[in-house]
Order: sequence, then structure tokens, then C-alpha cells
Amino acid sequence: MLDKINKLLEEIKGLSASSAEEAEQLRIKYLSKKGIIPQLFQEFKDVPNDQKKSVGQAINQLKAAAQETINNLKEQFEESQLTSGATDLTLPGTFMPVGSRHPLSIIRKQIVDIFGRIGFTVAEGPEIEDDWHVFEALNFPPEHPARDMQDTFFITQDPDILLRTHTSSVQIRVMEQQKPPVRAIFPGRVFRNEAISARAHCIFHQVEGLYIDEDVSFADLRQTLLYFAKEMFGQETRIRLRPSYFPFTEPSAEMDISCTLCGGEGCNICKHTGWVEILGCGMVDPAVLSNCEIDPDKYTGFAFGMGIERIAMLKYQINDIRLFFENDVRFLEQFRAES
Ligand SMILES: [Zn+2]
Repeated sequence: MLDKINKLLEEIKGLSASSAEEAEQLRIKYLSKKGIIPQLFQEFKDVPNDQKKSVGQAINQLKAAAQETINNLKEQFEESQLTSGATDLTLPGTFMPVGSRHPLSIIRKQIVDIFGRIGFTVAEGPEIEDDWHVFEALNFPPEHPARDMQDTFFITQDPDILLRTHTSSVQIRVMEQQKPPVRAIFPGRVFRNEAISARAHCIFHQVEGLYIDEDVSFADLRQTLLYFAKEMFGQETRIRLRPSYFPFTEPSAEMDISCTLCGGEGCNICKHTGWVEILGCGMVDPAVLSNCEIDPDKYTGFAFGMGIERIAMLKYQINDIRLFFENDVRFLEQFRAES
């Protein structure tokens, strides 16, 4: 009897299983009611009394060894089942790709924020406009080249309905509805009939600004734009105003900022002048105020307008305007850190 038990003990130590079912088969074979080990307990009755103690201990040891070995075999498959099917809450989460704002949206938001801090509200107007709001009320003479098919997308002619060529049209709409003081900026998309190149596109974005009140002077214009330039490009930024011409402002000026790349020393970006042009501005022409039924003897004001693409190209040193419209993820991904 003891020999039989020892033989079984050796057998059990060498057991192995390649699946959970195989381990269960082993449990049935050795430990179930009709299994080998319970059978030994049946045979135990016939063991002579003087051997009962040693044989009893041996059977108990065998049973314990069988239980341990078979449990270990079973556990091994329970673990592998966990990794194949069940949820392991300690694993890292699924990666969610994070998008980014478009660089034009980033710059637009920065411009709105900067002017918002000094009291400018935001207004918008339609992209499809009439001749009055885009040209006539803004003092464009009938023979002005902007009124030519070469420069403007017309939808219908006579009456002239067209895609606005600048956001100055929103100035007129605001002044028609709101009496001074008016202090607002008008961001929006504009359209020009131009050949697409690295420097020009038929669609781009502008922000126009307008401030109308009593005693608004050119000095107010200059200080406002200096504040904007420092906030947008850094506190060391300097500005200069050069005389220019626009139909709707008098006097008119182009504003340059000191080159953001070389700081005024001269480089390729500023064509070695140390200055970069960023916007047009001027005092609102009294005739434009009259067109909107605002008394030019009582009120004065200034207006300015800039291209959002131009600001973004300067700020991020982007050398091709077409990149803004291609939506190439490799380009857009580079603005992920911006807000
Ligand atoms: Zn430079």
C-alpha cells in the first residue's frame, strides 16, 4: 500500500497541463469522488491496524500534494485568461489624439483679446455684400480699380452684389446702426480675384478696427496701434507710420513694426530695412461719417485694417500663404502648444 502511495506521489509531482480543461481532467482523475485518491481511502479499511497510522499519514500527504499541484496548474490558466479577455484596470489608458487650433484662429483670438483689453468689442457682417457697403459709402470713386472685375468677385451686376474685398464694409454697417461712441473690431474672411501664389490668395482674413467719438485724434490712433504691436510682437517692438492713401481715411498711413526677427538690424524677412509693414490706418474721412449720418463736425475717428495671414506669417515665420488653406496635418500639428 505504501509503495502504491509513493508511486502516485511521484506521478503527481510530474503532472502538467496545457489548458484549463486539461487541469480539470486531472482534478477529476485524482480528486473527484470516484477518483484515485478517494479510492485509496476506501482501501484504507483493509489496511492492518498496525500500519493504519503510517498509511493514513501517507494518503493525507498525497491528497494535499495533489490538491496543491492541480490548483497551481489551474491558476496558471486563470491568469492568462485575464490578459486575453478581461479588463485590467492597471493598464495605461487608450491614447486619444489631441487636435490644435488653426494658426489663423490662434492669431484672430489674440487680436480680439488684445483690443478687448482696451475696450474694443467684436462685430461681424455678411461676406456677400452690395456695392454701397463695400465701395460707395467708403468713398471709392466710380473708376477705382477695385471695382473692376479683375480685382473683385461679382455675383451679379446692376445691382452689384459681390464678395466683400475687405472687412471695412462692416464699419459702414456698424455706423449705420450705432451712433458714437463706436469702438469695435471686425474680424472676417475677404475675397479678391487674385492669382494664388506664395504671397497672395483669393481668400484671406482681415481684422478691421474703428473708433469714433468726440475728439479722437491721430495721437489716439498711434497709441492704440503701438499698444497692439507691443502686445502682439513683444514689448521691445517699435512702430513707424508712413503716409499712404486709402479712399476712406484722411490722412492715411501704413504702419511698420521693427523686424521681429532681427530687431531692426536688417535681415531677409525685412529685406534689410529693419522694418516690416503690417497694417493700414488713418482718420476716418468726414465724407464716410456723413454717408452713415454721423455729424463730422462733432465726431472724429480712426480706422485700421490688417491681414490675419500676414500677422501669422510674421509671428510664426511662415513663408507661404497657401499653407493656411491646405490643412496639411504636418503643418497644423506645429501649433499644438499655442493657445
Ligand atoms: Zn529683419
